[in-house]
Amino acid sequence: MISEELLAILVCPSCRTKLQLIGEHWLVCTNPDCSRKYPIIDDIPNLLIEEGTKYIHVQISDLPAHPTR
Ligand SMILES: [Zn+2]
Repeated sequence: MISEELLAILVCPSCRTKLQLIGEHWLVCTNPDCSRKYPIIDDIPNLLIEEGTKYIHVQISDLPAHPTR
């Protein structure tokens, strides 16, 4: 689980906007013009721009519940 302290300092590596935790496995950029979504795998957020870009057009409700590498 990502701590509140960590979440507070995490920003999108692409646009530097705050990330929102969705469930336990996704960090979603709160900038609607960016919309990148970053998976959290084994409690480690994968904050690579190219990883977030893969999910730009995936709706939050359609994100896999348990993302894998
Ligand atoms: Zn962003």
